[in-house]
Amino acid sequence: MIGDESYPINFISKIIDADLASGKYKSIHTRFPPEPNGYLHIGHAKSICLNFGIAQAYQGECNMRFDDTNPIKENIEFVDSIKYDVKWLGFKWSGNIHYSSDYFDQFFNYAIELINKGLAYVDELSIEDIRNYRGTLTQPGRNSPYRDRSINENLVLFQKMREGRILEGKACLRAKINMSSNFMVLRDPVLYRIKFSKHYRTGNKWCIYPMYDFSHCISDAIEGITHSLCTLEFQDNRRLYDWILENITISSHPRQYEFSRLNLEYFVMSKRKLNMLVTDQIVTGWNDPRMFTISGLRRRGYSAASIRKFCLCIGVTKQDNLVEMASLESCIRNELNEHAPRAMAVLDPLKLIIENLPIGYEKIISMANHPQKEAMGRREVPFSREVWINRADFREKDHKQYKRLILGKKVRLRNAYVIRAERVVKDIEGNITCIYCTCDINNLYQDLIDNHTIKGVIHWVSVHHGLPAQFHLYDRLFNIRNLSSIDNLLKAVNPNSLIIKKGFVEPSLLNAIAMSPYQFEREGYFCVDSVYSQPSQLVFNRIVNLRDIWKNIFN
Ligand code: ATP
Ligand code: MG
Repeated sequence: MIGDESYPINFISKIIDADLASGKYKSIHTRFPPEPNGYLHIGHAKSICLNFGIAQAYQGECNMRFDDTNPIKENIEFVDSIKYDVKWLGFKWSGNIHYSSDYFDQFFNYAIELINKGLAYVDELSIEDIRNYRGTLTQPGRNSPYRDRSINENLVLFQKMREGRILEGKACLRAKINMSSNFMVLRDPVLYRIKFSKHYRTGNKWCIYPMYDFSHCISDAIEGITHSLCTLEFQDNRRLYDWILENITISSHPRQYEFSRLNLEYFVMSKRKLNMLVTDQIVTGWNDPRMFTISGLRRRGYSAASIRKFCLCIGVTKQDNLVEMASLESCIRNELNEHAPRAMAVLDPLKLIIENLPIGYEKIISMANHPQKEAMGRREVPFSREVWINRADFREKDHKQYKRLILGKKVRLRNAYVIRAERVVKDIEGNITCIYCTCDINNLYQDLIDNHTIKGVIHWVSVHHGLPAQFHLYDRLFNIRNLSSIDNLLKAVNPNSLIIKKGFVEPSLLNAIAMSPYQFEREGYFCVDSVYSQPSQLVFNRIVNLRDIWKNIFN
């Protein structure tokens, strides 16, 4: 319901309310119209949640339509990935999938109708001249010398275009509107261009393809869309959207409304630019966990619910802004804090030997999977005489505020012994290779009693039982917060966006399922990587840190 938790009121819901109240529409029908020229990104998620979400909230319908009128960059791989992503996000389209390419015959017939009405003409100016004749924001354009051709001549030429008898770039079909309009889009926009390219669905049937402005409004009208929601850069194009529908014979006239795009700091929202990152191998693919594509986020360990939540939180307005990374991260962090089972992993291992325990000593320790949720059960974690701890959890010298292990002092191993560091072994370069400790043998499990004296608690993994694992720690892909005005994206790439650590995890993670998340105590939220991980070499992605680190680093 609109206005409750599942869908908040926004300026579009107010328009819909008014349309329903006035009787203009009885029910609402939206559509999500991606071009299959790349994988979907988090910006598309905003549009998906708006179009499908608002239809759901009003018990209306939302169509899934592939806006596939440009044969050069579109393909079936992209179609399949987009379908998968929309379903995975939790949405269901109305009826069958629609394709703009299914309407190619209709588009063609409407173009003929415009020619017959004297509202479209075949222009033979070069692309460059068309641009020159267009004028500027302060200067009106000039009419093309081909503008006043007879209807008959236009029909013949358009037919020739369609039959492949005119070369690419040598002619196009333009609407005859007004070369001195204040709106550049109304200065005789191109409706059709010649492209000798095979289309992934229609093959070689066509060598002329309609422009977005011509095909989109007609597709909306054919499908009986009521509210056609798009991003703000199409604000002026709305004039053309309406002009076309007013001048062809079609019974419905959807209304276009624009909302602001989602821009996320440190990332780019353009399939073209993302495609470049993939082809230039800056990332390993569209689903690289550093990419804020739906597939990248999924592989990284983001749930569909957290992405939907994020889209609800950022809202739908007409104001352009740059959304903080922290807001996306807090959506997944809040969810994981509630639901992710806890486990122990050591990312940067240092061996610790408790020398007063007998050689071969082992003990099974029962640990809660979630400190506040008994219902999430317990697991058995083997402890032994030799454990891995994190290198950063030990210091030789005392330091103010350092509450971990210090030479000569005590610390508690999580749910196990209180230990004291006695001495260290170093390699020839002076790096510590091993710490020898002692423990109070009678004091296992009695950590609570020691609580008032022992401040620090560190986590560990038994050397004998731990599973080797790689940890992929991701940082932002770019170093620049607002990339909108950056020409050379490659220069803005963060060379440290992926850091790989090699360490160990507790054995209960042997059968960890891809994408099912864990909180590795004191390290962050992680999940098994669906591509690289093997039982013999587990690979974990860090989904997000335990706390918001952005504020500390950048403010
Ligand atoms: P891109 O440049 O990433 O390819 P696009 O607008 O060309 O973006 P489409 O496949 O045409 O991509 O987009 C499908 C729908 O998603 C459109 O209605 C578009 O307005 C919307 N959309 C795309 N990017 C964003 C974004 N950053 N925020 C909100 N909606 C978006
Ligand atoms: Mg587009």
